[in-house]
Amino acid sequence: MYRQNLYRRFPIVRITLSLFFVFILFILFVYPSPEGPFFNVLKFVIVITIGVIFYQLYSLTSLQEEQHSEENQRLTDEDIVLLNEEVEIKMSEVAGRLAPVTEFIFTYYSNFNVGLYLMNTSNTTFSLIEGSPLFSSEISLSDNTVSKFLNMDSPTFYTPHSGLEDVKHIFNQNVTLADSASILVSPISSNNQMVGFLVIQAEEFGEFEENDKEVAKHLCQMITKTLKDTSKLDILKIQNSFLMDMTSAHKEISIDNTKEELFDKFVKFCKRSLYYDKLTFTLIDDKKPNEVIIQIVDGFNADYKKGERLVLDESLHGNVLREGIPFRSPNIMLEKDVKGRFREGDLPDHSFTSFIGIPLNVNSHTIGSLILESFNPDQYSMNDLHMIEIFGSNICQILKWSEDYSVVKRSATHDGLTGLLNHRTFVERLNEEIDRANRFQTKLVLLILDLDKFKRINDTYGHLHGDFVLQETAKVLKQSVRNIDITARYGGEEFAIILLNASIKDTILSSKRVVSNVANHLFDKDGIQVRMTITGGVSEFPTDGTTDQELIAVADKAMYQIKRAGGNDVGLPSTFSA
Ligand code: GH3
Ligand code: MG
Ligand code: MG
Repeated sequence: MYRQNLYRRFPIVRITLSLFFVFILFILFVYPSPEGPFFNVLKFVIVITIGVIFYQLYSLTSLQEEQHSEENQRLTDEDIVLLNEEVEIKMSEVAGRLAPVTEFIFTYYSNFNVGLYLMNTSNTTFSLIEGSPLFSSEISLSDNTVSKFLNMDSPTFYTPHSGLEDVKHIFNQNVTLADSASILVSPISSNNQMVGFLVIQAEEFGEFEENDKEVAKHLCQMITKTLKDTSKLDILKIQNSFLMDMTSAHKEISIDNTKEELFDKFVKFCKRSLYYDKLTFTLIDDKKPNEVIIQIVDGFNADYKKGERLVLDESLHGNVLREGIPFRSPNIMLEKDVKGRFREGDLPDHSFTSFIGIPLNVNSHTIGSLILESFNPDQYSMNDLHMIEIFGSNICQILKWSEDYSVVKRSATHDGLTGLLNHRTFVERLNEEIDRANRFQTKLVLLILDLDKFKRINDTYGHLHGDFVLQETAKVLKQSVRNIDITARYGGEEFAIILLNASIKDTILSSKRVVSNVANHLFDKDGIQVRMTITGGVSEFPTDGTTDQELIAVADKAMYQIKRAGGNDVGLPSTFSA
């Protein structure tokens, strides 16, 4: 280091050395034949000097190289830090923050083995954050299994016939799997980098449903979003008790909380952590964007109340919402041009002075507001405003999260084409209802239905028309039974209905009406009018069976008997006598 500085700081040293060197060369090779011991010594000195100069030059170059690579290294380190800022995952905290999503995943896939892996901060391994002990607790990034996943951009099935062998390290070594076991792996990505993956294992491939890929993709997107929010919060976590409080409040929030429950929890947090005489949450009415509905009022309740509507006028509240920017005043009575708090002209009604209003923004779109007011002047500092803004942005994330969840939940439990319950959810509901009927010693009827000669619709008019017939049939079925009965799409053109708290005898007319309603319906689309018939079969709990499978088998058999006889009616089990 010193040598380098010497050269850098004193170029005169370099110049003198060079001149001396040229002079010596001149004496030795240009000055006529220098002979004698003096010149021999000089030659010796010159050889040594050349050696020294070469050594110096070499050292200088390698030092520069070293420094250059040090700079590169620093740059790379910085890059990694930046990269990690976006995707940084602190395992212990993240598990807590992800709890509501993981809870849902594990409940939804309760019949499967599920594992959630996230990348360690060291970026060298994926760790099993939660899941079945069947899965390896850690998998190195250099493992072949992981390299297969890294190139994946959407959920992928691995079955014994397609690639399961290549990714077998996902399982613990001592695990023996059924020959038909299959897995669905869905990547969790952030900024195009895979930061984890969700793995779902079924005993056989057939247990997976068509929309499982789509559901897994949605769930992984929710995980990514939560991880990003978590890392943003970590950046802001400046050892501030307010933010710490907020982090722990997060844990109280469950993914399937209703909007009301969420607002209650927000208020509980506000009561604990903020000072105000009146707190007001409003949300813009989706149907009337110029109006808001008050969702929550806490504290002073003698003026605006929960459920009240307000227009976005030029009051302070209206301005916050229209302009989408926060507002703080130490004393609104002393401000110029203030036309009102929530409505123009309401200023003299009460003696509020301090005011903080923040817009609730989702994707740069204002959806509502959070207003804190106090009778004391100078109640809120800029720091308070900043903290409340962070809280507000958290509220927005949670509301958005809850909305995303309802979409995912719906797509996970309902059939996309008809909007009826899907097969898996139907079977779950059937089991729940069997349990309930068992406990309360009541009966229930299972009605299975299959459209007659449906294939000809696809063959004659195309699949889109077939889809339309299925959608219309679903509507007719739903309208034909009571609201409490459970209607589902059982398979392609097969439907199922659970008639609750009833026997076959009670419901035989209803079942026949379901069938005749379909026969009487005109399926009319794009000038094409078709008539359809449907065939049903029923079974009764507990008379025909006490398990889902027994009931389904009996109803199926009864239906096929009628199908063979031409269809368009309801088949009864052999146990039934009028
Ligand atoms: P049967 O009277 O014996 O019940 O005969 P079918 O034609 O109704 O029954 P089949 O089992 O021979 O054919 C059912 C057809 O339903 C075959 C399949 O292509 C079609 N299908 C299944 N799901 C859908 C779907 O979502 N949309 C459309 N358009 N067709 C579907
Ligand atoms: Mg069928
Ligand atoms: Mg059919």
